Amino acid sequence: MSALLEVEDLEVAYGPAKALFGVSFHLEAQRVLAVLGPNGAGKSTLARAITGLVPPAAGHVRFDGRDITGLPAHEIRRLGLSQAPEGRGLFPSLTVLENLQAATRRCRTRAERRAAIEQAFETYPALAQRTKQRAGTLSGGEQQMLSLAIALAHNVRLLIIDELSLGLAPIVVDRVFESVQRIRERGVTIVVIEQFVERALELADDCLILQHGAVSWQGTSAQARADIKTLYLGQNTDGTNDRAGSAPATASLQ
Ligand code: ATP
Repeated sequence: MSALLEVEDLEVAYGPAKALFGVSFHLEAQRVLAVLGPNGAGKSTLARAITGLVPPAAGHVRFDGRDITGLPAHEIRRLGLSQAPEGRGLFPSLTVLENLQAATRRCRTRAERRAAIEQAFETYPALAQRTKQRAGTLSGGEQQMLSLAIALAHNVRLLIIDELSLGLAPIVVDRVFESVQRIRERGVTIVVIEQFVERALELADDCLILQHGAVSWQGTSAQARADIKTLYLGQNTDGTNDRAGSAPATASLQ
């Protein structure tokens, strides 16, 4: 079986500064990949390059066998590859329902559109109780759930989730992770970029560690959990900690 996502020798540069150096990996359908690594390792850049938000300088991205390298983000999304949370994906002044209606406007039929919205509310019952509330007044966790619901409403087959837990209280992070688990149960393939290493590895089947813009390790999550202390300590090569002060990436694994 060929992989749903194939990334081959991907390079990205911001002006003269290279951020990714020949990143390669495969992801099979219906699996969850955790992408881990210290600040500035290139995780978000990798997500943006796959979803068409930054142009790769070299290399290839294939989705379901099709070369999507350099396609505009909206075309990539139409193929079923989305990123969440995505700033532009959520309209703060619109209600929850209006946001979902906007997300499903490209559905071919009215019945399809209604089914997509119903499915979003089944996956996120908390949102079903807030259909008329403006998205900007939802709590942080509810906004993240709405951004996931919006991504789902795009008929997503591969979802890239970048730092969903950023700025959320730990108890809210738990709820958001449960909601990602529900997306997984619907057969969506997921790439999760996450500062909470342990939670990400609990959810994921596979793990890829980026350091200084290159893949430093890849394998199963089970292997990563067994070896994490030697694989990735959140330390720079000079021994300083990238996440001094917050340190969730390492503290949760002590
Ligand atoms: P974090 O966990 O802090 O989000 P990250 O692993 O996601 O880090 P990236 O945000 O992808 O890392 O950054 C990789 C490198 O590219 C860093 O050196 C960063 O400073 C640089 N970079 C990221 N975005 C830009 C940009 N828009 N313009 C210039 N340089 C950028």
